[in-house]
Amino acid sequence: MSSQGAHNQVALQPIEQAMQRLLSSIEPVTEMLNVRLEHAVGSVLAEDVLSTMDVPPFDNSAMDGYAVKFEDLNTSDNLELVGTSFAGAPFEQHLEHGQCVRIMTGAVMPEGADTVVMQENTAANGDTITITVKPRLGQSVRRCGEELTKGQVVLEKGRQLTSVDVGIMASLGFAKACSIRPLRVAVISTGDELKPLGTELAPGDIYDSNRYAIIALLKKLGVEAIDMGCVPDDREQLMAAFIDADSRADAVITSGGVSVGDADYTKEVLEEIGQIDFWKLAIKPGKPFAFGRLPSSYFFGLPGNPVSSMVTLHQLVVPALQKLRNTPVKEPVTYHAKAKKQFFKRPGRTDYQRAVFSTNEKGELVAEPTGSQGSSMLTSMNKANCYAVLPQNSGSVEIGEPVVIQPFDYLIS
Ligand code: AMP
Ligand code: MG
Repeated sequence: MSSQGAHNQVALQPIEQAMQRLLSSIEPVTEMLNVRLEHAVGSVLAEDVLSTMDVPPFDNSAMDGYAVKFEDLNTSDNLELVGTSFAGAPFEQHLEHGQCVRIMTGAVMPEGADTVVMQENTAANGDTITITVKPRLGQSVRRCGEELTKGQVVLEKGRQLTSVDVGIMASLGFAKACSIRPLRVAVISTGDELKPLGTELAPGDIYDSNRYAIIALLKKLGVEAIDMGCVPDDREQLMAAFIDADSRADAVITSGGVSVGDADYTKEVLEEIGQIDFWKLAIKPGKPFAFGRLPSSYFFGLPGNPVSSMVTLHQLVVPALQKLRNTPVKEPVTYHAKAKKQFFKRPGRTDYQRAVFSTNEKGELVAEPTGSQGSSMLTSMNKANCYAVLPQNSGSVEIGEPVVIQPFDYLIS
């Protein structure tokens, strides 16, 4: 049987099954690396982060105003001003009955004070402060430890650090994050028709755009992309490129050369050095896909069409890389919207149509396709803010019918 015949016999594989197979094959990287906090955003924590202290570390004022003893206000609205507590320069004495202290946001509460009256609710006449609006007991005071207690888990192992997480770690005094070492991912484009940027295109040539888009997404993901350039459809050159990439990376991502016509060729090369399965996914765009092992890396072969390569990278390879870097794989967030225009579809594959969601005048979530959905048209994707995910066996979605949308995450938008 020709291998082309073999391809045709392979049933289309539902995306959920492909995802399962990918994830179950991947053994996470566990090596750790201390990353300076200023470079830590996007890295994955290798250990839980515990709070080094109570936060806030002392009772302090949430407002600019006056620190008082609440019970004094039962007898008089007037208090004697005896000092100041500024952020970084506390009032050192004990507050006595009938006294108050001028206090600024973040400044230490003086001993003996229990409440802050915001400035707007006071009137000053020399050293006499009149409380014009009575506070509640403890108002505008941030209590020691009310946010975090010392030793508490603040950020869990496996978490991919956000900008806010970096701020939290800094507030706890961490100069470094103990992270999983960055993944190294080699990116290769394949195809005789692909020409590097900055060169003239001969008839039939196109610019190699996938490599740029793939590397751009990987950078956002926070992995180290190794640009392996573009390789023509040539046995020896492909072999050399795959071997080189494998020796340098944890994962190798190629685009092009996995569809039926090309696959036999790439397959031959890959099977010599690794164990690769060629799949036909029941998704659109992005039917052909290859996955397997090279001697020291995982191999992901994306289809060449630019939208197909981005969608398969985003939907399948990103979760696989997340598992590889030891971070929990999250289900994408989805919502139900109403179709504002028809979504044309034939049953058979799960469509990831590029769509725009918004709310209509009734406050309902609505979505419409971005127009032509050709798998070569990257502009169908940059006009979109979500995928409309249309189930494998369903047909078109008519106006007013429900449609599942998956808003683009930070990797795409
Ligand atoms: P293939 O999967 O190699 O059959 O390619 C499918 C389509 O995607 C063809 O039209 C290719 O020219 C195009 N293509 C493949 N690789 C790239 C690339 N790196 N950049 C842009 N288009 C590509
Ligand atoms: Mg090709």
